[in-house]
Amino acid sequence: MLPCGSPPRAIVQIVEKLKNEGCAAYIVGGALRDAMLAGTWQVVADWDLATSARPEKVMELFPEHVPVGIEHGTVKILVENFAAEVTTFRVEGEYRDHRRPEKVTFTSQIEEDLKRRDFTIGAMAYDPIAQALLDPFGGQRDLALRLVRAVGDPKERLREDHLRLLRAVRFASTLGFQLEENLFQAIYQERRGIRTLSQERVSAELVKILRGPDPARGFRLLKKLGLLQEVLPELVEGLDLRLEVMAELPPSLHLRLAALLNGMDSNLAKQILRRLCLPRKVGEKVLLIVSWQGKKPQDTELDLRKFLAQVGKEAALDLVALWRSEARARGKYGQECEEKLSQIVQLTYKKLPLQIADLAVNGRDVMEILGIGPGPEVGEVLEQLLEQVILCPELNEKTTLEKILKLEEE
Ligand code: ATP
Ligand code: MG
Repeated sequence: MLPCGSPPRAIVQIVEKLKNEGCAAYIVGGALRDAMLAGTWQVVADWDLATSARPEKVMELFPEHVPVGIEHGTVKILVENFAAEVTTFRVEGEYRDHRRPEKVTFTSQIEEDLKRRDFTIGAMAYDPIAQALLDPFGGQRDLALRLVRAVGDPKERLREDHLRLLRAVRFASTLGFQLEENLFQAIYQERRGIRTLSQERVSAELVKILRGPDPARGFRLLKKLGLLQEVLPELVEGLDLRLEVMAELPPSLHLRLAALLNGMDSNLAKQILRRLCLPRKVGEKVLLIVSWQGKKPQDTELDLRKFLAQVGKEAALDLVALWRSEARARGKYGQECEEKLSQIVQLTYKKLPLQIADLAVNGRDVMEILGIGPGPEVGEVLEQLLEQVILCPELNEKTTLEKILKLEEE
C-alpha cells in the first residue's frame, strides 16, 4: 500500500535536517493520503509535514521559509517546485465556539497529533528515512475500502469543528469515496452546526467540490445530508436536472456554476455568486452565461451574428456547451439540435466583424473623414458602422466604410 519509490529529494532533505537536530519529522495529511491512493509520490504537489520541532526552530533551520500560518504552528517552506507546510505536532485545546480551537498546544508525540486529525485517511504519518508508516486509526484499511471515517466518535468530532461537516463531503466527492455509515448519520444529525461557520470557509469547501472530478455527486450528497438546505436553500428545488446538465459539461468552474444556476433569475444568481466569494472575473462570466441561458438565438445567420456580437465568442461557446448538455439531460439531443449548435461554433471560427475593434476603420479615420474632433459622436458613428457591418460583413473594407462615412457626411 505504500507508494512506490521515494518522495522528492528536497522533501526527504527537510525531514533529514529535522531528524539530524534530534527532532521527529513525518510526511502527513493529504500528501501521504494522495500518494498512497495513487501508489506514487509523483501526484503530490503540496506537502504536509509534521515535526516535534517548535516553529521557531523550524524557521531557524530553514531561512527560506514564508511566514504563513505561524499562529497554528505552521511554517511554509518553498523548495524547488514544491511548497512544504511544516507544522509542529499539536493537540487542540477546547473548541469553545465549535469553530477554532481556543489555543494551540504543542506536543512532542506524533500519536497525539494524529489523534486530533479529522478523518482516518488523513491521520497517518510516514517517516521517509526509516521508511516506517504510523497508522493508528486504520487509515490504510479505509483507503482500501474507499471510506471517509472519523477518527474517534463522529458526532464529537463534528461538534468540535463544524467545518468537518463539509470537509467530509468534499473528500467523499473529490476522492470518489463513501461516507462511513456512522459519520453519515452524524453529519445529518449535526447539519445545523454549519450555521456557525463563516461564509468564506463554507464557500472554500463548496468551490473545492465544484472544482473536483465529480461535483454533481458532491452536491447530491450535500442535499441528502441536509447541508445544501442550510447553505444554498435556493438550489434544492430542481437540483437533479441541474446536476445532470453539470455532469455532461467540460470541467470548468464557471460552466459548472452556470449549470448550477441554470434557469435562475439573474438577481438571485448574482446573490448566490456573491455568497460563494468567487473571484470577480468568474462571477462575471457566470452571470453573462446565466443571463443568456434562456435566449437561444433563431437559426438565421443574421440572428446568430447578432448573438455573437452581443455575447462575444467565448461566452457563445460556453453557451453552446451548456445548451448541448441541457438537451442531453432532457433527452432532446439529436442531429437537428447538434446542427443548430454547431452552426454557432462554425461562425466563431470565421473572421467576422463583431466589435468596434474589428472594424476596418477606427476613430481617427472617422474624425478625419467627418472633420470632427474627439468626443462621444465618434463612438456613436463607429457603433452605427458596426451595426451595418454585422448585418452585412462584406461591407467591412476600409474603402467601403470610408465611402459610407462620406455619404453620411453629405
Ligand atoms: P487537501 O490539501 O487535499 O485539501 P488535506 O487532507 O491535506 O487535503 P489540509 O486542509 O491540507 O487537508 O490539512 C492537512 C491535514 O490536517 C489533514 O489531512 C488533516 O489530517 C488535518 N486537518 C486539516 N483540517 C482539519 C480540521 N478541520 N480538523 C481536523 N483535522 C484537520
Ligand atoms: Mg493539504
